[in-house]
Order: sequence, then structure tokens, then C-alpha cells
Amino acid sequence: MDLLYRSTRGANEPVTASRAILQGLAKDGGLFVPDRIPQLTFGPELMTGYTYQEIAYQVMKLFLTDYTEEELRSCIDKAYDEKFDTVQIAPLVKVGDAYHLELFHGATIAFKDMALSILPHLMVTAQKKNHLDREIVILTATSGDTGKAALAGFADVAGTRIIVFYPKNGVSKIQQLQMVTQKGANTAVVGIHGNFDDAQTGVKKLFGDRDLAAKMEVAGFCFSSANSINIGRLVPQVVYYVYAYTRLLAQGVLKNGEPMNVVVPTGNFGNILAAFYARQMGIPIAKLICASNENKVLFDFFSTGTYDRNRKFILTSSPSMDILISSNLERLIYQIAGCDPDKCAALMQSLSESGKYSITPAMKAKLEPFYGNYASEQETADRIARVYREEGYVMDTHTAVASAVYEKYRNETKDETVTVVASTASPYKFLTSVLDAVGALTPDIADDEFAKVDRLYEVSGVAVPKAVEELRNAEILHKRECDPEDMKDTVLEILGLK
Ligand SMILES: *Cc1c(COP(=O)(O)O)cnc(C)c1O
Repeated sequence: MDLLYRSTRGANEPVTASRAILQGLAKDGGLFVPDRIPQLTFGPELMTGYTYQEIAYQVMKLFLTDYTEEELRSCIDKAYDEKFDTVQIAPLVKVGDAYHLELFHGATIAFKDMALSILPHLMVTAQKKNHLDREIVILTATSGDTGKAALAGFADVAGTRIIVFYPKNGVSKIQQLQMVTQKGANTAVVGIHGNFDDAQTGVKKLFGDRDLAAKMEVAGFCFSSANSINIGRLVPQVVYYVYAYTRLLAQGVLKNGEPMNVVVPTGNFGNILAAFYARQMGIPIAKLICASNENKVLFDFFSTGTYDRNRKFILTSSPSMDILISSNLERLIYQIAGCDPDKCAALMQSLSESGKYSITPAMKAKLEPFYGNYASEQETADRIARVYREEGYVMDTHTAVASAVYEKYRNETKDETVTVVASTASPYKFLTSVLDAVGALTPDIADDEFAKVDRLYEVSGVAVPKAVEELRNAEILHKRECDPEDMKDTVLEILGLK
């Protein structure tokens, strides 16, 4: 029987997985959720010899039931290939007391690659399955990371185009280079004379522009979005938690059925929600440890049962977690509200009107598998320094937030359960903060990104990732810039509609 997807806010008829992937967000503004969490067909002890790709198939087929085996395997093979710099795709590495699941071996050296390398293929397949023949145009505003990961995922995928808007002076040198050197005839990158909010507001306007939609339709295009609430990004993230457990079994660290904890550096709540789904599928995850940076809205939520975004936004050294509205939390709220869309919709309405909501004690009781805490900027830097000193392992800032929170958790609870830390970015992606933390940032290299790359290589001994090495001599392919009010014209021009 097909698994169908419903809106967390209820008004929609349930849709198939492929429809949910094409649609992204439900029409009533809710998020698509599976109408049940499927159970693993057979136990992880039988998958210890499986490749990442095979486990991806075994997990994803249970969620994406309207895809044929051939379709799904083809998507998986195109996604998890030589773009990753290790055949393991997501290696599990022991560091001190914890196992680090390195999710940063893809094209853009951060964990967004795990899902964005497969989403384009899932979308194109969904178009075909639903007999839609319009070319998909992905529009994205980015503060740096997601834009590049989406560009890399969609580049040269037939049947798609991608246009990324970024704040011209609002991303790091490396991030900008990563984007403007992107290859692929179907890619376009535009620097906005404005900040990230201008770019995001502009993109939202374009999505709602009827004149533009009409012009696109005539020309055979349709818009879609690749953002993290798409179920096509969530499902591929469940895979690596199942994979991690099978590796712990394979390495003899755990016996089948013995629990593991996971620690996840959290922003939009997508990654940790995927772990929660893996737990419900039958992977024995004891605690889901939710790690925040100084934007600790989730820690406060887990402690008090009140979600409150009315607070100062803090820019930290872990920018991908600088978020005050964790969109994917809505899926958890829906579930702890007993899958009652009206209750969920009421809480989300309260969030949009007053910036906060409180859950009932009964709902809060269902959060028992979660533990929330946070790490300050100082604690994050100290953690990088200490793990480097003691283990010789250099972590990025996001992973360090998780690692620091794990330390707090252990000190507080004395829980010795085997623990997996989701390691979400390569230290080469956050050079300045990482070098500073380990005491290797000297004034002579302060303004030279590639000198910092070389310095990190000297201190860590970890080979410079291809994704960074390539940038040294890469050709600048995208020089387009525009004012926020000219975004529509720019899109028309890129699509050849002017
Ligand atoms: C996006 C991101 C996160 C946060 O993941 P969510 O799924 O949004 O919670 C953490 N670390 C890095 C490096 C990221 O890019």
C-alpha cells in the first residue's frame, strides 16, 4: 500500500511521495508528513555488509513508495558517486569518547550534500512519473552554504535549471568563489546589491508573481524550491543514521539491539528529525541530543515547553545554525500533538502572530527521547582546541557545538551509551574560526583564504578537499549582479523570456 503524505495543518488531501516532492510545501502552508513511519523490513544486523547506496535503497523505498525500484536505484546511483571523496560516503570515525559520522565528504564539504545530491534526481523522476514535461526551475536565495550545495546538486541534471541569488557582500570569500565558479550550462548565480533578507524576500515575491508564472507556463517552465522542508531532503537524511548503526554493529562496537545516542548540531531541525524517524523505524536510538549555539531557542523549548522566537538574533561562528524559526520542528509538533492537524495549525498560527507558543504537559511528556542543550561561542572554540590537543582531530564549528553539548550531557547524566556525533561540515569550510580556536591564525594570513587553507593542512594533516583545492585556479563563470528590484527581469533574462 502506498505511503501517503499529509499536511501538518490538515486541509490538504493526502498526496503521493512524488507529488509531495514536487510541491515542496502543502497548499495550506503546512509541511508534508508521511501518514505513518514505516518499519525497517529487516533488522540492521542483516545490513552490516551493505554499501551506503544499498542502505539508502532499503530505507528510501519505504518512504517513497510510488517510485519503482529501478527509479529509486537510478536516483541513488547518480547521487552517491564520485562526487563524494570516499566510497564509504559517510565514514564513522572514533574521536575520543564519541563516534563522528562525517557527513561532509560531498561536493561542497557540508552535510547539505547528503540530501541535495539526490533531490534533483528525485524531482526529475517525479515529473516523469506524473507525466509533467515542464522544465523545473529552482530559485534559491542563499546566505552561502545551501546555494552552493543546491548548485552542485542540480548542475547538468537534464530537465532542470537553477538560479541562485546571494548577497554580493554578505558571504565569505570561499563561499562566493564556490558559487561563481560553478560549472553546468543550467546554472545561474546572481550577486544581489543587498543583504540576505533582500534576496530571500525577492525570491518569495517571484514565487508569488502571477505574471511571471504565466510567462513561465507558456515557455514550458515551472518553479520549484529546494529548501529543507521538502520531504525529498528529509528522507535521504534518515539513511545515514541507519547506516551509522550498521557500521557500529559491523565494527563490533555494539551488539544488535544495543542502543546508541546521537548528537546533532541543529538549526532548522531537519537533521535531528531524520534521526527521530530512524528511531521510529526501529533503529535503537536511546537519546536524541539536540545541540544549539547561542541562538538557543530549541534548548529553551525542550526545557520549558515554550517556543519563543522573540529574542535577539546572534551571529555566531556556526552560521548554519543561526536560526530562530526551526521550520522542521513543525513535523515533531504535529506528531506529539497526536497527529492532530488542527492543534498543530493553531500552534503555528500563534507562532506567526505572537512569535511563540506553548505545548501541553502531555505533549511535553512525548519529548522524552530528546535532550537539549547549547554551547556558547567560547565553549565551542574551547572544544575545538581541546579535541585537537587531545585527539589530533580538527572539527568545524558546527560539529564542535555538538561535541561540546555532548560533553555537558555526559557530565550531567553519566550516561555511557555509545554515541554518534553528526559531523556536519569540514573544518576547511570555516577556516578563520577553526584556525583561531587552535591558535594557528596569525596576522600575516588574516586576509588570505588560501594561506589559511595551507595552514589548516599543516596543523591538521587532513588532505585539502578537492572542493577547496579546485577553487585556487577555477575560472569565474558567473558575473551577474542586480539590484533587488531587478530580480524578476534577471530571471526572465536568464530563462530567455525577455
Ligand atoms: C544546515 C546545517 C546545520 C543544521 O542542520 P538542520 O537540519 O538545519 O538542523 C548544521 N551544520 C551545518 C554545517 C549545516 O550546514
